[in-house]
Amino acid sequence: MTNSTSQNWQVKDEQYVWHAMKPYNPKATSIIQKSEGAWITDIDGKRYLDAMSGLWCVNVGYGREELAKAAYDQLLENAYTPLSVGHVPAIELSEKISELLGDDYVVFYSNSGSEANETAFKIARQYHQQKGHTNRTKFISRYRAYHGSTMGALAATGQAQRKYKYEPLAPGFVHVAPPDAYRANEDHITEPTALPSVQAIENVITWEMSDTIAGVILEPIITGGGVIMPHENYLRGVKKVCEKHGALLIVDEVICGFGRTGKAFGFQNYGIQPDIVTMAKGLTSAYMPLSATAVRREIYEAFIGSEEYDFFRHVNTFGGSPAACAVALKNIEIMERENLFVRSEELGAILHAELQERLKDHPHVGNIRGKGLLIGIELVSDKNSKAPLDVSAVNKVISLCKEQGVIIGKNGVTVAGFNNVLTLAPPLIISSAEKDLIVEKLTHALHELLPQGG
Ligand code: PLP
Repeated sequence: MTNSTSQNWQVKDEQYVWHAMKPYNPKATSIIQKSEGAWITDIDGKRYLDAMSGLWCVNVGYGREELAKAAYDQLLENAYTPLSVGHVPAIELSEKISELLGDDYVVFYSNSGSEANETAFKIARQYHQQKGHTNRTKFISRYRAYHGSTMGALAATGQAQRKYKYEPLAPGFVHVAPPDAYRANEDHITEPTALPSVQAIENVITWEMSDTIAGVILEPIITGGGVIMPHENYLRGVKKVCEKHGALLIVDEVICGFGRTGKAFGFQNYGIQPDIVTMAKGLTSAYMPLSATAVRREIYEAFIGSEEYDFFRHVNTFGGSPAACAVALKNIEIMERENLFVRSEELGAILHAELQERLKDHPHVGNIRGKGLLIGIELVSDKNSKAPLDVSAVNKVISLCKEQGVIIGKNGVTVAGFNNVLTLAPPLIISSAEKDLIVEKLTHALHELLPQGG
């Protein structure tokens, strides 16, 4: 039931707010007023279990007083100091991020995942210049990956539909096919660099002339593109190829980071150490805008030089603001105190197993995959051919789940015909009962809307 106040908000929303990623259809918008734990409530009082943590970001759940207080206290103590100067929350946070990354990293701050990636590209290009490798300007990324909305990050993105009508973007980005364990049939290959998905990268490095490649950017698991799993050895293989050809490995942890895949960072599932790591979303659980680009010390030290332009000439006004850093520190403290990385790993495994059990015989569930509380359910029209299910059927499943009070997602604007992966990324604090509710509503929607042969 909508009341007159909520109708009024809806009218004004339609009039004034330009919504992200929506076709022109403002009436479809929910207006959310409150949130607590894993639940969000709209202006009409309807509650939803948010099994997507907003945009894969509210990792510690909503309504955390400690985070609000951390921001409040810091804003009163010292509202602003740019990082061309310095402040204690940034020092403490950088040390903590380096510790979580498991090696010696130096951290640069921005406000969004897109900017963190832009920063990584600039650092990588200048690093090679500093080293005298002046041809190394190109980046390799994968089709179906999303790396952000700005001109460089969008150029790195491998989803043509997101670029259409905005080109030309930044030059110097070359795409390769993503790994896809569901379709690739690489299981029998043990040597990482012998995986066809790794060789695809090495081939492109060679064909582009290896001394022109600045770096390779990838998410450990492609998230928004459809929770696409690599072979377990894929990252090891890519790291070896990068080392062999002198390219930096940039790992985008904007979604995978901060417990989403059951570890502090997604790459830690795969036994590698990246050269550059970008992070955002879960860094503050979205309570404040903050992102970071962490680089191995050796890369940082390449910027110590005697020439006028040897230093990194890059700044952003709000990046690493004291309050955002204070919130990130408190957010990480909560994650450690409540053991949320382990919780994500364990509860994610149970959620995965239960979905598998309930849906394994469903004619349109081709593949259930993921790590930790990051899960993708690929819907197909035929299990043998693995042909993707039509997006309209996928959307109906999402709408029915929403009607029944559970918000689930799907892969974004991606390769035409491949909008067929349902996604789950609930807050890492969901209870066992909330996990059961997700399984129940999703299973019900799939059986109701896509019955045998449907
Ligand atoms: N990288 C990945 C993997 C993302 O999923 C996103 C956003 O969803 C970004 C980068 C860009 O982050 P932001 O929206 O904060 O700019």
